[in-house]
Amino acid sequence: MKAAVAKKYGDPLVIEMVNVPKVGVGQCLVKIKASGVCHTDLHAVNGDWPIKSILPLIPGHEGVGEVVEVGLGVSDVKVGDRVGIPWLFSSCGTCEFCQTGRETICETATYGGYSVNGGYAEYCVADAKYVGKIPASLSYEAAAPIMCAGVTTYKALKQTKASPGQWVAIYGIGGLGHLAVQYAKAMGFKVVAVDIDDKKLELAQKYGADMVVNSTKVESGKFIKAQMGGVQGAIVTAVSKNSFREAYDAIKNGGSLVAVALPQGSIELPIFETVLKEIHITGSLVGTRKDLQEALDLAGQGKVKAEYVLDKLENINDIFNKMKSGEIIGRTVMQLT
Ligand code: NAD
Ligand code: ZN
Ligand code: ZN
Repeated sequence: MKAAVAKKYGDPLVIEMVNVPKVGVGQCLVKIKASGVCHTDLHAVNGDWPIKSILPLIPGHEGVGEVVEVGLGVSDVKVGDRVGIPWLFSSCGTCEFCQTGRETICETATYGGYSVNGGYAEYCVADAKYVGKIPASLSYEAAAPIMCAGVTTYKALKQTKASPGQWVAIYGIGGLGHLAVQYAKAMGFKVVAVDIDDKKLELAQKYGADMVVNSTKVESGKFIKAQMGGVQGAIVTAVSKNSFREAYDAIKNGGSLVAVALPQGSIELPIFETVLKEIHITGSLVGTRKDLQEALDLAGQGKVKAEYVLDKLENINDIFNKMKSGEIIGRTVMQLT
C-alpha cells in the first residue's frame, strides 16, 4: 500500500510502498478514504515533544474509511462500516482513569499516528472498540476533521464549565479553532474568536463568532475584559506560547483557561490573580469515545461543518509547509482512494 512515512525527525515524509498491516485480535482493517492533517502531525514528525513519536512512523489521526476486515473477537464493527481512527487509538480499560471515564489520560494508552501507525496510508488497522462511527449524512471528507479537531474542541469547551449564554474565547482559528467556534455556538455560548490573521477571523465570523479580535492589533486579553467583563472560559488552540497569557487575561473571576495547543515551552502565570480570582487552569487532551460520538453526531446533524481543502497524500510536505506558515484556512483533507 502507499503511505507517507517519517524516517527522521525534521526530515520530509517519504511516499513509499509498505506492507498492508496485519489485523490483530480485537482489531479491524480500514481502507482509508480521507485523512485530515492536524498540526499535531507536524509536531510528531519534527520530534517537538518530550515524549517522542515512534520512527519510522506513518502519521495521521484523522483517517476515515471503510472496514474491510475484522480480527478475532471483534463485535463492535463489521465489514462495510464507515469509521474513523482517532488519536486515542486504544487504552487499557482497567486503570483508575479508564474506570472513571477519563480514558484519554490512561498512562498506557496508545496514540494513532504517534505511538502506532496512523492514517496517512491506504490502509490502517484500528482497535475496533475505539473507532468513531461516521453518521450516514457525513461524507468521509467532512468527517475526517471531526476525528481530532472536532472532538478535541468539543471536549475542551465542556472543560470550561460555561453555561449557555456565557462568553467563551477561542484563541487560534485554525483547524481546531474554526470547529471550536461552531461547537461553542451549538452549545449556546457567545463566542469571541482571536487570531493573528484577519482571514482566519473572517472564517470565525462566517461560522457565527459574536466578536473577533486580531491580537496583533490590540492586547487581546485586556481588550476582551474591557468589552464584556471577560469570558467564562478561554480555549487556547494557537501554536504560540504568548497566546496562553493573553487568553488568561481575558478570563473573568471563577473562569477557566483550557490549554489545548502544544507549542514547546512553559506557561508562566501570576499566582496572586489566579488565587484571588479562583481561576481554573486545565489541560485537555482530545476526547473520550463518548465525546467523539457526540462530536460526530453534532456534525451529522449539520450543526458543525468542517471547512476543508482537498489535497493528496503525495503533497503532504507542501501541506506541512503551508501549515507552518499559517496559510491553511480550516483543515486540509487528503483523499486516499
Ligand atoms: P493550525 O495550524 O490549523 O491552527 C493554528 C492557528 O493558530 C492558526 O489559525 C494561526 O493563525 C493561529 N495562531 C498562531 N499564533 C497565534 C497567536 N499568537 N494568537 C492567536 N492565534 C494564533 O493548528 P491545529 O491543527 O488547529 O492545532 C493547533 C494546536 O493544537 C497544535 O499545537 C496541535 O498539536 C494541538 N492539538 C492539541 C490537541 C489536544 O488534544 N490537546 C488535539 C489536536 C491538536
Ligand atoms: Zn487505562
Ligand atoms: Zn490532532
